[in-house]
Amino acid sequence: MRNVFNFTNPLRQLGTRRYSFWIPFIASVLVILLSEIYVYSVAHNPMVVGRYIIFVHVAMIIYFSFRDGIKGGVITVVLAIAYYAYIIYTRNYSGEQLRAGIDATIVLSLLYSLLAGVIGWLKQTLDRLVGREKDERIRLQAIIDQLPVGVVITDSKGIVVEVNKKIDQFLGMKLPKGVKVGQTPLLETKQKGRTLTPSQGPLAVVLSTGKSVVDREVNVLSKDGKQVYLKVSAAPIHSHDGKLIAAASIVTDITQQKELEKRKDDFVNMASHELKTPITSMKLYMDSLQARVKSKDEKLEKILARLQYQTDNLQQLVSDLLDVSRIQTGKLTFHKEEFSLNELIKETIQGLQEAASTHTISFIAKDMVNVYADRFRIYQVLTNLLTNAIKYSPDGGAIKIYLKREKGKAIISVQDNGIGIPKEQHKKIFERLYQVTDPKEKTYPGLGMGLYISREIIKRHQGRIWVESEKDKGATFFVVLRMR
Ligand code: ADP
Repeated sequence: MRNVFNFTNPLRQLGTRRYSFWIPFIASVLVILLSEIYVYSVAHNPMVVGRYIIFVHVAMIIYFSFRDGIKGGVITVVLAIAYYAYIIYTRNYSGEQLRAGIDATIVLSLLYSLLAGVIGWLKQTLDRLVGREKDERIRLQAIIDQLPVGVVITDSKGIVVEVNKKIDQFLGMKLPKGVKVGQTPLLETKQKGRTLTPSQGPLAVVLSTGKSVVDREVNVLSKDGKQVYLKVSAAPIHSHDGKLIAAASIVTDITQQKELEKRKDDFVNMASHELKTPITSMKLYMDSLQARVKSKDEKLEKILARLQYQTDNLQQLVSDLLDVSRIQTGKLTFHKEEFSLNELIKETIQGLQEAASTHTISFIAKDMVNVYADRFRIYQVLTNLLTNAIKYSPDGGAIKIYLKREKGKAIISVQDNGIGIPKEQHKKIFERLYQVTDPKEKTYPGLGMGLYISREIIKRHQGRIWVESEKDKGATFFVVLRMR
């Protein structure tokens, strides 16, 4: 039944551009035969044919020119006109009746041809357009399938309309078309350990905000139970008149990269733990050695002092490495207490001023400010900002540290007159292992960990840290901390 419907429904074949000769031909011949049988065997009146045949033929011309284009229409018209000629001949028309019959046949043949031509032409144009769109879709699908990245496209309501094979490979299952994104019951999507609700997925965000999402990392539990890490970028698609009509996302599998990163982090963590113990005992031995040679051997005392200084650097490096790895694994802990920032800043300056004789560090406090924070960690941030100010002002000069209170917040700023930082680097310097100068040149020692650790510490205190600077015009780092 369904096949019969598909076969006879002209809309089913839209775009195929296959036009049959035999179907309209056989159908027309059958209609003529049935009509003749009806006229002679049922109605017993050869003249009755004129009452219905025009309607039947008009309907047939419309149907076949829509089904089989101009070809279908023309075949039906030719057979219809031939039948009319046959009627005129077999019904023995004469005189006035014959002339009227011939006139009517000529007029009808013109009208029928016009009808078949117009409808057939429309149908063929429609087929061409639909066919072109179908070809376009096939081409697009082939390109999407061959891409080395996963692609998911949804309509404006978030229903998946296109998925390529790469996505199925990533997820270990077929992501069905027609489902709403984020609502595949088998998949749980997480970002930084938190399960995402359907409305928080990258495509859903694009559809609700109309803005692109760039390089978001999520992880999904694939069908075979593996954690798959994916990087997703998604963008809205607008129609020519600016309406949001769809959203498309590009997905790359970064599982291997993540595993490698984890192994590297584990290694750094382990190595810094292993290094910590021998350095601590080295320092202890050095302290006792220093006490022994004190004012006995000046030369040895100097060597020991230098050794002590280098060991301190080494200890600082290892401790930074450990902090970075703690941040990566979410294990950085805080012990908060209330303390005076003024005192802490003075202490920090004291500790550093001795080692930095070429720079003068001054403290300008507008207010007395107490904060509730981890004293040691804030000390670490201040030390980092001040050592940077010293390190990146190679010509010496004044370093100023300001402290004031504003709207229940403590604002600290560290200002230097050093080499400065170009605008486009202001955000990047707070990233892990980022350095402005080429690390290979080694103009300035360091590994690019200090500001990353500082930013994490301040972030975990619900504070803010940023820099204002221009190249060659010094830099001012700002830290804002909540007082309570
Ligand atoms: P490190 O100093 O070990 O390289 P940081 O994370 O402390 O790492 O700093 C990151 C980068 O930011 C530095 O490499 C440097 O290029 C830039 N930077 C930091 N502080 C300053 C400053 N006060 N003036 C100029 N550049 C700075």
